[in-house]
Amino acid sequence: MISEKINSKSYALLDIEPVTYQGFRILFLADSRIPRLEYRLGTLIYHYPKQLQASKVYDILDHLLIRVKNKYAFIPAVDDQFCYVFGEKKSLRLLTNLGRKSLKTALKKLIGDYINERVFVITKELKLPAPIKIVFRDTTRKWGSFHLLIKDKSYYLSFALSLVHFRKEIIDSVIYHEITHYYYLNHSKVFYQKLQLFNPEFKLHQEKLNAGKY
Ligand SMILES: [Zn+2]
Repeated sequence: MISEKINSKSYALLDIEPVTYQGFRILFLADSRIPRLEYRLGTLIYHYPKQLQASKVYDILDHLLIRVKNKYAFIPAVDDQFCYVFGEKKSLRLLTNLGRKSLKTALKKLIGDYINERVFVITKELKLPAPIKIVFRDTTRKWGSFHLLIKDKSYYLSFALSLVHFRKEIIDSVIYHEITHYYYLNHSKVFYQKLQLFNPEFKLHQEKLNAGKY
Protein backbone atom coordinates (compact mmCIF):
# COMPACT_ATOMS: atom_id res chain seq x y z
CA MET A 1 0.00 0.00 0.00
CA ILE A 2 1.38 3.36 -1.01
CA SER A 3 0.24 6.56 0.61
CA GLU A 4 0.84 10.22 0.03
CA LYS A 5 1.08 12.26 3.17
CA ILE A 6 -0.74 15.56 3.50
CA ASN A 7 1.89 17.67 5.24
CA SER A 8 1.84 15.89 8.58
CA LYS A 9 -1.11 15.54 10.91
CA SER A 10 -4.52 15.42 9.35
CA TYR A 11 -7.98 16.43 10.33
CA ALA A 12 -11.40 16.18 8.80
CA LEU A 13 -11.36 19.34 6.79
CA LEU A 14 -15.09 19.76 6.53
CA ASP A 15 -15.82 19.05 10.17
CA ILE A 16 -13.36 21.39 11.79
CA GLU A 17 -14.27 24.48 13.67
CA PRO A 18 -11.39 26.88 13.63
CA VAL A 19 -11.57 30.11 15.62
CA THR A 20 -10.43 33.50 14.48
CA TYR A 21 -7.54 34.86 16.48
CA GLN A 22 -5.35 37.83 15.55
CA GLY A 23 -6.80 37.70 12.07
CA PHE A 24 -5.91 34.05 11.51
CA ARG A 25 -8.16 31.05 11.29
CA ILE A 26 -6.78 28.69 13.87
CA LEU A 27 -7.72 25.18 14.80
CA PHE A 28 -6.59 24.19 18.29
CA LEU A 29 -5.48 20.60 18.71
CA ALA A 30 -4.07 19.41 22.04
CA ASP A 31 -2.20 16.54 20.48
CA SER A 32 1.48 17.32 20.37
CA ARG A 33 4.38 17.15 22.81
CA ILE A 34 5.96 20.26 21.31
CA PRO A 35 3.85 23.30 20.38
CA ARG A 36 3.92 23.97 16.65
CA LEU A 37 1.88 25.45 13.83
CA GLU A 38 0.91 23.67 10.68
CA TYR A 39 -0.66 25.34 7.68
CA ARG A 40 -3.34 23.63 5.68
CA LEU A 41 -5.94 24.90 3.25
CA GLY A 42 -6.12 28.36 4.71
CA THR A 43 -6.23 27.24 8.30
CA LEU A 44 -3.45 27.20 10.83
CA ILE A 45 -3.47 24.13 12.97
CA TYR A 46 -1.98 24.80 16.37
CA HIS A 47 -0.70 21.62 17.96
CA TYR A 48 0.14 21.93 21.64
CA PRO A 49 0.55 19.69 24.70
CA LYS A 50 -2.66 18.79 26.52
CA GLN A 51 -1.20 19.57 29.94
CA LEU A 52 -0.06 23.08 28.99
CA GLN A 53 -1.47 25.87 31.23
CA ALA A 54 -4.21 27.90 29.56
CA SER A 55 -2.25 31.16 29.73
CA LYS A 56 0.79 29.50 28.21
CA VAL A 57 -1.26 28.13 25.33
CA TYR A 58 -1.82 31.67 24.07
CA ASP A 59 1.62 33.00 24.97
CA ILE A 60 3.27 30.35 22.88
CA LEU A 61 0.78 30.80 20.07
CA ASP A 62 1.52 34.54 19.91
CA HIS A 63 5.16 33.70 19.61
CA LEU A 64 4.65 31.17 16.85
CA LEU A 65 2.36 33.52 14.90
CA ILE A 66 5.06 36.16 14.58
CA ARG A 67 7.18 33.70 12.68
CA VAL A 68 4.57 32.63 10.15
CA LYS A 69 2.96 36.00 9.50
CA ASN A 70 4.55 36.61 6.14
CA LYS A 71 4.90 33.05 5.09
CA TYR A 72 1.44 32.10 3.88
CA ALA A 73 -1.38 33.64 1.91
CA PHE A 74 -3.98 32.42 4.40
CA ILE A 75 -6.86 31.86 2.08
CA PRO A 76 -9.41 29.59 3.72
CA ALA A 77 -10.87 26.82 1.58
CA VAL A 78 -14.26 27.46 3.15
CA ASP A 79 -15.49 30.58 4.90
CA ASP A 80 -18.91 31.94 5.86
CA GLN A 81 -19.97 32.67 2.31
CA PHE A 82 -17.68 30.96 -0.12
CA CYS A 83 -16.03 27.67 -0.76
CA TYR A 84 -13.26 26.91 -3.22
CA VAL A 85 -14.38 24.30 -5.71
CA PHE A 86 -12.01 23.24 -8.48
CA GLY A 87 -9.93 26.34 -7.81
CA GLU A 88 -12.80 28.81 -8.02
CA LYS A 89 -14.73 30.63 -5.34
CA LYS A 90 -18.29 29.38 -5.24
CA SER A 91 -21.16 30.68 -3.18
CA LEU A 92 -22.21 28.42 -0.32
CA ARG A 93 -25.85 29.26 -1.03
CA LEU A 94 -25.58 27.90 -4.53
CA LEU A 95 -23.51 24.88 -3.57
CA THR A 96 -25.97 23.81 -0.90
CA ASN A 97 -28.99 24.70 -3.00
CA LEU A 98 -29.93 27.40 -0.48
CA GLY A 99 -29.18 25.14 2.43
CA ARG A 100 -31.29 22.23 1.23
CA LYS A 101 -28.32 19.88 1.28
CA SER A 102 -25.17 19.89 3.36
CA LEU A 103 -21.99 21.33 1.98
CA LYS A 104 -20.23 18.06 2.60
CA THR A 105 -22.77 16.12 0.54
CA ALA A 106 -22.43 18.62 -2.28
CA LEU A 107 -18.63 18.51 -2.27
CA LYS A 108 -18.54 14.72 -2.07
CA LYS A 109 -20.66 14.47 -5.19
CA LEU A 110 -18.53 16.98 -7.11
CA ILE A 111 -15.18 15.40 -6.32
CA GLY A 112 -16.56 11.86 -6.67
CA ASP A 113 -17.96 12.49 -10.13
CA TYR A 114 -14.81 14.23 -11.30
CA ILE A 115 -12.29 11.68 -10.07
CA ASN A 116 -14.32 8.66 -11.16
CA GLU A 117 -14.55 10.04 -14.68
CA ARG A 118 -10.87 11.05 -14.86
CA VAL A 119 -9.59 7.71 -13.56
CA PHE A 120 -11.72 5.95 -16.16
CA VAL A 121 -10.33 8.11 -18.98
CA ILE A 122 -6.69 8.01 -17.82
CA THR A 123 -6.54 4.24 -17.26
CA LYS A 124 -8.12 3.74 -20.66
CA GLU A 125 -5.55 6.00 -22.32
CA LEU A 126 -2.72 4.12 -20.65
CA LYS A 127 -4.32 0.76 -21.45
CA LEU A 128 -4.37 -0.20 -17.81
CA PRO A 129 -7.10 -2.14 -16.04
CA ALA A 130 -9.49 0.12 -14.18
CA PRO A 131 -9.39 0.02 -10.37
CA ILE A 132 -11.92 -2.27 -8.72
CA LYS A 133 -13.10 0.69 -6.67
CA ILE A 134 -12.35 4.27 -5.75
CA VAL A 135 -12.75 5.34 -2.16
CA PHE A 136 -13.10 8.90 -0.86
CA ARG A 137 -12.02 9.84 2.62
CA ASP A 138 -12.38 12.98 4.66
CA THR A 139 -10.48 11.90 7.72
CA THR A 140 -7.36 10.98 5.86
CA ARG A 141 -3.83 12.12 6.25
CA LYS A 142 -3.17 11.46 2.59
CA TRP A 143 -4.11 13.10 -0.69
CA GLY A 144 -4.34 9.73 -2.30
CA SER A 145 -3.24 6.15 -2.03
CA PHE A 146 -2.81 3.08 -4.18
CA HIS A 147 -3.73 -0.33 -2.83
CA LEU A 148 -2.59 -3.43 -4.65
CA LEU A 149 -4.38 -6.71 -4.01
CA ILE A 150 -1.65 -9.29 -4.34
CA LYS A 151 -3.88 -12.28 -5.08
CA ASP A 152 -5.04 -11.10 -8.50
CA LYS A 153 -3.05 -7.90 -9.13
CA SER A 154 -6.21 -5.86 -9.03
CA TYR A 155 -6.08 -2.55 -7.20
CA TYR A 156 -8.14 0.19 -5.70
CA LEU A 157 -7.51 3.88 -5.13
CA SER A 158 -8.42 6.29 -2.41
CA PHE A 159 -8.50 10.07 -2.46
CA ALA A 160 -8.98 12.89 0.01
CA LEU A 161 -12.27 14.75 -0.29
CA SER A 162 -10.45 18.02 0.28
CA LEU A 163 -8.94 17.72 -3.20
CA VAL A 164 -12.26 19.25 -4.32
CA HIS A 165 -10.89 22.72 -3.52
CA PHE A 166 -8.08 22.53 -6.04
CA ARG A 167 -7.89 23.22 -9.74
CA LYS A 168 -8.52 20.19 -11.88
CA GLU A 169 -4.95 19.97 -13.14
CA ILE A 170 -3.78 19.65 -9.55
CA ILE A 171 -6.35 16.93 -8.85
CA ASP A 172 -5.21 15.19 -12.03
CA SER A 173 -1.64 15.27 -10.80
CA VAL A 174 -2.69 13.27 -7.73
CA ILE A 175 -4.52 10.81 -9.97
CA TYR A 176 -1.44 10.40 -12.20
CA HIS A 177 0.73 9.88 -9.17
CA GLU A 178 -1.47 7.09 -7.83
CA ILE A 179 -1.88 5.45 -11.23
CA THR A 180 1.90 5.46 -11.69
CA HIS A 181 2.07 3.18 -8.68
CA TYR A 182 0.57 0.53 -10.91
CA TYR A 183 4.05 0.31 -12.50
CA TYR A 184 6.20 0.99 -9.44
CA LEU A 185 5.15 0.39 -5.87
CA ASN A 186 7.63 2.85 -4.46
CA HIS A 187 8.93 6.37 -4.91
CA SER A 188 12.11 5.44 -6.72
CA LYS A 189 13.83 7.40 -9.45
CA VAL A 190 12.14 5.33 -12.15
CA PHE A 191 8.78 5.98 -10.55
CA TYR A 192 9.30 9.74 -10.91
CA GLN A 193 10.62 9.35 -14.45
CA LYS A 194 7.44 7.56 -15.38
CA LEU A 195 5.30 10.13 -13.59
CA GLN A 196 7.13 12.91 -15.39
CA LEU A 197 6.05 11.40 -18.72
CA PHE A 198 2.41 11.48 -17.69
CA ASN A 199 2.54 14.77 -15.86
CA PRO A 200 5.57 16.92 -16.68
CA GLU A 201 4.55 19.56 -14.14
CA PHE A 202 4.11 17.24 -11.21
CA LYS A 203 6.55 19.10 -8.97
CA LEU A 204 4.76 22.39 -9.39
CA HIS A 205 1.40 20.74 -8.74
CA GLN A 206 2.73 19.07 -5.62
CA GLU A 207 3.96 22.41 -4.28
CA LYS A 208 0.61 24.05 -4.86
CA LEU A 209 -1.15 21.17 -3.19
CA ASN A 210 0.96 21.36 -0.09
CA ALA A 211 0.80 25.15 0.10
CA GLY A 212 -2.99 25.22 -0.24
CA LYS A 213 -2.89 27.17 -3.51
CA TYR A 214 -6.19 26.15 -4.99
ZN1 LIG B 1 3.08 7.68 -4.03
